[in-house]
Amino acid sequence: MTTLIRADGLYRSFSVKAGLFQPQQLLHAVNGVDIAVERSEVLGIVGESGCGKSTLARMLLGLTPPSAGAIFIDGQDIATLGRLELARRIQPVFQDPYSSLNPRRSVAAIVAFPLEVHGIGTRSERRAKAIEMLERVGLPPRYADSTPGQLSGGQRQRVGIARALVMNPEIVVCDEPTSALDVSVQAQILNLLLDLRQEFNLTYVFISHNLAVVEHIATQVAVMYLGRVVEFAPTATLFARPRHPYTRALLASVLTPDTSLGIPETGLGLSFPDPIHPPAGCPFHPRCPQRMASCETQRPALVGDGAGEVACHLYPAATLQGAST
Ligand code: SF4
Repeated sequence: MTTLIRADGLYRSFSVKAGLFQPQQLLHAVNGVDIAVERSEVLGIVGESGCGKSTLARMLLGLTPPSAGAIFIDGQDIATLGRLELARRIQPVFQDPYSSLNPRRSVAAIVAFPLEVHGIGTRSERRAKAIEMLERVGLPPRYADSTPGQLSGGQRQRVGIARALVMNPEIVVCDEPTSALDVSVQAQILNLLLDLRQEFNLTYVFISHNLAVVEHIATQVAVMYLGRVVEFAPTATLFARPRHPYTRALLASVLTPDTSLGIPETGLGLSFPDPIHPPAGCPFHPRCPQRMASCETQRPALVGDGAGEVACHLYPAATLQGAST
C-alpha cells in the first residue's frame, strides 16, 4: 500500500474578535495535525462542531492555506500544484447540497462546470460527460435539465457527488455529506459512496460528527478535539476498544444521538471549551471523567503502538510500546 495523501505538522489559526471593542485574538483551528491516507482507504475524521475538522478538510482541498505544515499528494506538495492538477487529484463533496449548487443552472450544467472552468472538452462533450456521471450516481438523463430546486435533498447530493467525480479525481474529501439528509436517504448516499469508491478506486477523507456514519464507511478513524488528533486507529479496533476518554464518550453518544444542535450528546455536557482560550495541559481535562492531577498541566503527546495512536496520560508511551511487543 502507498500513501496517497499526507499532511505533515498542519497548523491553521484565524484572527478573530470576541466583540466589537475587543482586540484581535488567535483561534488555533488546526493545531499540529499529521495524517496519512493510503490509496483506496477511507479515513474518517470525527469530533464535535468546532474541533477543526472542516478547516482541515478545506486545507486538504487547497481552499485554505496552512499557517504551517504541508500537504502532499503522492509525495508532491500541493502548494506546488496548479489549480487544474489539484482539481484532477482531489475534489470535495460538501454538507449542504442545496447551498453548494447554483440554483439557476441546470443539473447537467452544474456537473459539467468543473470541466468548463478548466477548459476541458467542447460544450456538447461536457454535457455528455455530465449526463454519464449523473447516471453513474443514480440520476437518469431526464434530470439533466432540472434545476436543484426541483430535486429532493438526496438527489441534490447525488448531483454534488457527480460534480466531484466528473474530473475523475483520485481523492474525494466529503465534509458531512449526509448530515443534512433524512436518515433513510443518508444510508443510500453512504452506500452510493462505497459503490463509487470500488468502481473508481477512490480514496476518501470523510468528515463527520456522527460516529455511526463513520463506522459504516471508514477503514480508519481519527478523532479530533480542539484542533488536534487525540486518537487514531483502524475502524474495527476503534469501535471494539476505544481508548481515549473522549472517544469513549463519543461512542456512548451513538446510542443516544441528539443531532438537533449539530453536535452529539456526549454525556459530557455541551460545554465545548472556548478554542481561543483552550485549557492548559490536556485540552480535554475539564470534561474528562478520568482526569488526574498531571492532566491539568501536561499535554499528552499522540503516541502509537500496533493498535493505533492515542494522546492520553492513561496510556503512557512505555505502556503503549510494551503493548505492541
Ligand atoms: Fe483525561 Fe487526562 Fe487522558 Fe486527558 S490525559 S483524556 S484529562 S485522562
